[in-house]
Amino acid sequence: MDSPLRVAVIGYGIAGITAAICLRRLGHAISHFERGGRPRPQGGGLLLSPGAMGTLHRLGAGDRIAALGAAVRSVDHRDPTGRRYLELDLAAHGVARRKNSTTPSTDDLPVGILRGALLDALAEVDGGAAKLQPLGAVHSVDARNGTINDDEGRRIGPFDLVVGADGADSSLREHLRPGIRRDHLYASAALVCALPAPTERSSDRLELIYRGTSHIAVWPVGRRHPGSPEMLNIAVNVPRRELAARRDPADWRRHVVGLCPWLEPSLSTIRESRQLLEYTYRHTELRSLRRGRIVLLGDAAHPMSPQLGQGVDLALADSWALGEALRDDGPLEKALERFDHRRRMALSSRQRLSRWVTPAFQGESRALAICRDGALRIAARSALLRRAMIRSIWS
Ligand SMILES: Cc1cc2nc3c(=O)[nH]c(=O)nc-3n(C[C@H](O)[C@H](O)[C@H](O)COP(=O)(O)OP(=O)(O)OC[C@H]3O[C@@H](n4cnc5c(N)ncnc54)[C@H](O)[C@@H]3O)c2cc1C
Repeated sequence: MDSPLRVAVIGYGIAGITAAICLRRLGHAISHFERGGRPRPQGGGLLLSPGAMGTLHRLGAGDRIAALGAAVRSVDHRDPTGRRYLELDLAAHGVARRKNSTTPSTDDLPVGILRGALLDALAEVDGGAAKLQPLGAVHSVDARNGTINDDEGRRIGPFDLVVGADGADSSLREHLRPGIRRDHLYASAALVCALPAPTERSSDRLELIYRGTSHIAVWPVGRRHPGSPEMLNIAVNVPRRELAARRDPADWRRHVVGLCPWLEPSLSTIRESRQLLEYTYRHTELRSLRRGRIVLLGDAAHPMSPQLGQGVDLALADSWALGEALRDDGPLEKALERFDHRRRMALSSRQRLSRWVTPAFQGESRALAICRDGALRIAARSALLRRAMIRSIWS
């Protein structure tokens, strides 16, 4: 860009903080807005792909994440009795990628991390949340002049560029509505919590346990701070229409023990429904990630089910790519066109894969669940299929 831009970033999540870091480094003036003007408390955990870890290292947050997080060496798909459908040995794949080494570097493995620890690490690189501007929830933006309106009747701007990083239920996405190609709220949702990990259990595995259409994912997510207890993340899929009823802690504990009996001693700490975080899943595809002065990043631009564990990678890559597009001289319009083209190219195959596999893993069809179990058993017998699965998800 020829001169510094006035940029508004909406949303203090993974995409928003990363965009603020990348654009501030280019000398642009950033005004950052989050609902209510302060960071939201963040619970539960995430699995970061090696691609996401690569971007975090480039941003300067990778070492802190690697130190707090837990490397995941294998993915175990099985039923509640312990019978295995398929095991994916990520460590062996990581070694194969590093020709001169016999042990995988954690850079080649997915890393489990608490959502709060990831956001703290990004906020530290960004210089902290002190830069957040007071504003309510943003509900609309004038795409021609970059003026922002919040739900308390305030009007701020104009800005040269408004970065919409306001998550899966983005209100800015409405401005791109004529270009919405697909928009679907899944019937499946999740109840999630992170708990101290039992010390006697080895903790370098993502366990995916299926019983028909019921499904639980358990993986290590490291520590919130150096010295604090090691945690496990538990994500249980539930039908969206039953979310409120299934949030009863006793009911949830019974359901979890039925799928994963070894967790029983750890579950006694879940006594109140507010400890269980509710998440719904949406899949939206846009013909363009921008309109006028608005550009969307992260879940605001392409919400997907978390089945493939790629949301953070994509959010980080979007923000990084926006910085790269704005690095070159030339008009803003051209830079946004470049960004839009590159990101849509990178997104389309992942969106397609997510759309195809999610119904089998998160859906309510018993027939699809039987096909899924069969497909996992077939993959267990084919080294080629196992490698392709690892590559398609964890590259
Ligand atoms: C249950 C679950 C498990 C997941 N597991 C994984 C995983 O293991 N690995 C992975 O890579 N991804 C995972 N994901 C996806 C990942 O969480 C998202 O892709 C990622 O958080 C996207 O970041 P974001 O910054 O775009 O959005 P968000 O993290 O949602 O941040 C959006 C921010 O915008 C703010 N905001 C919203 N509306 C407004 C408004 N109107 N005005 C101002 N601010 C607003 C919000 O408060 C929030 O701070 C998971 C998602 C879910 C739901």
